[in-house]
Amino acid sequence: MIPFPLEQRDPHRDNEGPLGGAEPNDASEVQAEDEREHAKAPRLVCAACGRFVTSRAEAIEVADHHEHTFVNPAGFVYKIGCFAEAFCRAEGPASSNWSWFPGYHWQAVLCTSCGVQLGWLFRSTPHTFYGLVLERLAEASGEES
Ligand SMILES: [Zn+2]
Repeated sequence: MIPFPLEQRDPHRDNEGPLGGAEPNDASEVQAEDEREHAKAPRLVCAACGRFVTSRAEAIEVADHHEHTFVNPAGFVYKIGCFAEAFCRAEGPASSNWSWFPGYHWQAVLCTSCGVQLGWLFRSTPHTFYGLVLERLAEASGEES
């Protein structure tokens, strides 16, 4: 069953096109970020306890979108954002059952401070990213005290 029509690139199609197969692997292409923008980007913290989790500068696109809305097998709807890095704790076994991103294994990730589940770590050799539930994050304003 393919629950969502996510486009998957076929690695064997690299030879298409007039110039032949010189293209680099583009499946995990991430837009380059200016390092200075990185420091200024809003910080995203755990909505429950305020612990730093990630920053908007870590936002990436997966399957052409940063935000994805998914329904889990129990019927819960999650709106997640994809991030290259996040400070959180992966817990439980990795699973490929009902993966929202074909080819990726997922593992639950929890806040390192209060333990609330923030989302999932998605892993596929060699690409790893975090899918974080956006309503469980809050944008931090000002300096951390
Ligand atoms: Zn927390």
